[in-house]
Formats: sequence, structure tokens, C-alpha cells
Amino acid sequence: MSSEAQSISTHQLLVALVELPLYQPHELAGADPNDQVKRLRLHKGKFDAYCPKCGKSTTWSPIVSNELEARAKQEQASAALSSHGNSAGPIRHFWAGDFGLRISCGRVNVHVADFHFTTTGPSPRDRLEFSKGALAQLDPTCLVKIGQWPSLTDFQLGNLSNFDEGMSRQQRKEFVRGTNCAAHGFFVASCVYFRRVFESVLLEARAEYMSRHNLEQWPEFDRARTDERIALLREHLPKFMSEHPHLYSVLSLGVHELTEDQCQREVPMLRSAIELIMQDRVTEVRQRRQREQVSKLLAQAIDRHKT
Ligand SMILES: [Zn+2]
Repeated sequence: MSSEAQSISTHQLLVALVELPLYQPHELAGADPNDQVKRLRLHKGKFDAYCPKCGKSTTWSPIVSNELEARAKQEQASAALSSHGNSAGPIRHFWAGDFGLRISCGRVNVHVADFHFTTTGPSPRDRLEFSKGALAQLDPTCLVKIGQWPSLTDFQLGNLSNFDEGMSRQQRKEFVRGTNCAAHGFFVASCVYFRRVFESVLLEARAEYMSRHNLEQWPEFDRARTDERIALLREHLPKFMSEHPHLYSVLSLGVHELTEDQCQREVPMLRSAIELIMQDRVTEVRQRRQREQVSKLLAQAIDRHKT
């Protein structure tokens, strides 16, 4: 649960909820939770995010039904009458409880995404992990996402095809699993998969180095710590990785020491770091291919103009 919940706007709340994993409670601290949910359900602010159906970034708009608009107007009219002493009391609808949000893609309006929420206390994971006493301490006014389609993974994987040239099948599989784990609230497991991707990039660079130098064994590498291994392979690794050897320390902390909540805070950054590593590899593959193509064309041109 976020202690920052009190200060965020309705728009920030909407964007946070779109990115929220299933079954993670999001605290509605501060003002009347029913009123916060009302503002959320009537909010029409647009925001940019990836559309899994377009396969590219788009501007999403929340769809507010006529029925909800009518309910809000009824409340407003009732409040106005009440303030003039013409009514026993203003009508107040219950906006919290179970409800859905639908957003529509700005490129193709039949591309919609649906989210389902409930207003509740502790999440199912908390119920497994917390004692009865601790459960009682949890704030009962939380929003929990109980369903969404397309899945959070579909949104988070974004333009994964952009990295195809920089990822082996196994690396892609583990990157997807790391993202999937985070989408389901398992952030330590997510660190495990991201660390495996990191390690496999390092081992590929070692194999390339050994092959280039006709080495069958490399004891210096085998004895070295991971940061020293990165230094040894500096010239053969993706730029982001050789510039940030401490990335491995954070991944390892996530695997061995950090709590789920601490990992949750770090996982978006770790995923972006792995994406940058893959992006560096894609750039390298494309540049190498372009150099080979132009070299070939140059050789053909020289052949054509031989005297
Ligand atoms: Zn779309």
C-alpha cells in the first residue's frame, strides 16, 4: 500500500490503477473513499500507453457511460435542492464496491481495455502471509484490481518485438516470465528471471571472447566476481551493462535479501535496465549487418570499375 496515496490526483490514480498488478491493494487514504471512487469512475482524462492490439503506443481515453453521468447529475441536483432547504437531504449514491473501468484506444476505437476493481481490505496474498492480528491492522479502504483484459503482461511487454534481434529465445522467455511474475505480484521471482537474463548475456560474451581468442579455459574469468567479470568483458558487452556493473548487485539483492514490497519498488527500473541492454544488442546487430552489406556493395563497385 502506498503512503503517497493521499497526495495523488484522480488522473494519477487512474494511471496507477492501470499499471497495478492483480490483487495488490491500493490505499485510498485521505478524503471520503466513496467520493474518490466517484471521481475516478467519472474521470475522462487521456493518457499515453502501449496498446497491445495496435502493437504501438497510443492515447487512451476512459469511457464513462450515460448511466454514470446521469447518476452524478442526480446527486448534483439533489445537493443543490438540499442546500436551498427544498429537500430532506441530498441523495448520495454508493460508488465504491465492485465496479469496472473501460478505456478506449485513440488509434482504433474498438480497441478497448477493461479493468475490474473491488473496494476491500487485505489482498488474498496478505491473507496467506499475515497473521490474524496483522490483518486487522490493515486499512479496510483499499482498491484491489480483480481482473483486466488485455492482461497487464500484454501492456507491460510493450514493443518486445523491437528487441527480437537482441534476444535469444531463452532470454525472451525468461524476460517474459519476469514481467509476468511482476504482473501477478511476485516481485522477488521477477528479480530471479531478470538476473538470469543478465547472467546469460554475460556468459554469451564470455563464449564469444573465448572463441575469438582460441581459449578452451579462462581461469581468470572463473575466479572473478561478477563486477570483475564485467570489467574483463567490457569491450564485448552491451554498453549499458558495462557502464552499470552494479545492476547485478541490485538484481542479487532482489533475489536474496529484499522483501516483496522492496522488490516491487525496484522491478520497473530493473525491467527498463534489461530492455536497455537488449536495445544495445539490437543496435549492435543492426550496425554489424549494415557494415557487412555496405562492405559487400563497395567490393562489387570496385569489381565493376576495375580497369
Ligand atoms: Zn489500439
